[in-house]
Amino acid sequence: MKILLIKPRWFVKGGVYRPLENIKFTPISLGILAALSGGHEVTVADGDWDPIPYHGDFDLVGITVSTFTSEQAYDIADRFRAKGAKVVMGGPHPSLLPEECLAHSDAVVVGEAEYVWGMVLADARAGSLKKIYNGGRPVDMDDVPEPRRDLLNDNSWMASVQATRGCPNKCLYCYLPEVPWHIYRKRDINRVYEEIKSVKQKVVFFVDDNLFADPAYAMALFEKLTPLKKIYSLQAPTTIGRDPVIVEKMAASGCFHVQMGFQTANPDSLKWAAIDHNNIAEYKKTVALLHRHKILVTGFLMLGFDTDGRDIFERTVRMAREIELDDANLYILTPYPGTKIYEQFRREGRLLEGKGRHNFGWANAVFKPKNMTPEELEAGVQSAIQELSGYFRNKLPLRFAERFTWIFRHPRMMLAMAAGGFAKRDISRPITQEPVPH
Ligand code: SF4
Repeated sequence: MKILLIKPRWFVKGGVYRPLENIKFTPISLGILAALSGGHEVTVADGDWDPIPYHGDFDLVGITVSTFTSEQAYDIADRFRAKGAKVVMGGPHPSLLPEECLAHSDAVVVGEAEYVWGMVLADARAGSLKKIYNGGRPVDMDDVPEPRRDLLNDNSWMASVQATRGCPNKCLYCYLPEVPWHIYRKRDINRVYEEIKSVKQKVVFFVDDNLFADPAYAMALFEKLTPLKKIYSLQAPTTIGRDPVIVEKMAASGCFHVQMGFQTANPDSLKWAAIDHNNIAEYKKTVALLHRHKILVTGFLMLGFDTDGRDIFERTVRMAREIELDDANLYILTPYPGTKIYEQFRREGRLLEGKGRHNFGWANAVFKPKNMTPEELEAGVQSAIQELSGYFRNKLPLRFAERFTWIFRHPRMMLAMAAGGFAKRDISRPITQEPVPH
């Protein structure tokens, strides 16, 4: 069969994710499916970097779908189905809302695809696709093949890698606790090592949601990676600040940057959103520890919780400065359909779904906040982003001067970070619909 695997577009130029636009966050999940599609001719299209090959003839089209790309995905699916291709959807949105996705697809994979993909291919070839393929038990990470990187439009200088899946935490706003792959699992450290060793890129990005859920595993992985002399960025919880040894191992093994979920400057919001693992009083110490090891810190912060008042914007800016973040991504609370928080807001009549799914990308108010209007929430976040951008930009030369050794060894990384630092971030530009091809 001729198979096309698609990730719809995530980023919009000038939008709130603009700082990430110079870096391809390669969809390795599609590379994994490609690796599981032996005997078939596979093409992978990443909507952020590749044109969608509407003119090609494909027997089966697989689309990975998030809530904010669902409208795009349905449009893409409708076009391929009109040409006679069968379409199968997977990812967070189809796992949460399979019936909705079936209105635009022939089949849906609920949960992880590794153990059922072979069945999907066999049924598609036999012309007998079922509606739902349940991924079943959580995939053993050692059953996951290495992605077909030869089919991915990868960065020449940075590779995405995955060591673990899942997260034991249960933050109220996160879709992860609601999907079958939330259970924490780890790959054999030797396999992670071999994969990182084999990729040509010197910079690695770990796509893991929470690599630190088992600190002993994280520690052993960092020790193993140290001789490779590659550098890497990952997502880390604030709790690593309580463990100076793990931070030391991270730095020694090449960690130069973390994305850290501080989430809020408001202790009441930590409670409201069940972010039990965070303690605001520790934030400054944690950032200082990472800085001592020359690790840059991008803070992830969310605004719009029911416990947030109109002062949350000023509190957020003040905290980001006080704890000396190097950069921050400010997001607006977004209730994904299929999650508990969505159900709560639906019951309370607070959803603004008429705004369209493309506005569910954490940059727009798609619900009525408790203590302000949606417009006030969006305007407040936009002005906080602008204020912080100026602050981070002024710190940029010093950040680079302190890290001149690795900057000389990794100039592409420095250019990407510099471009991000000077980029405009405008939350009023949501993800747009896929243009109609002529
Ligand atoms: S810690 Fe992160 S990945 Fe885990 S539940 Fe919370 S938001 Fe989701």
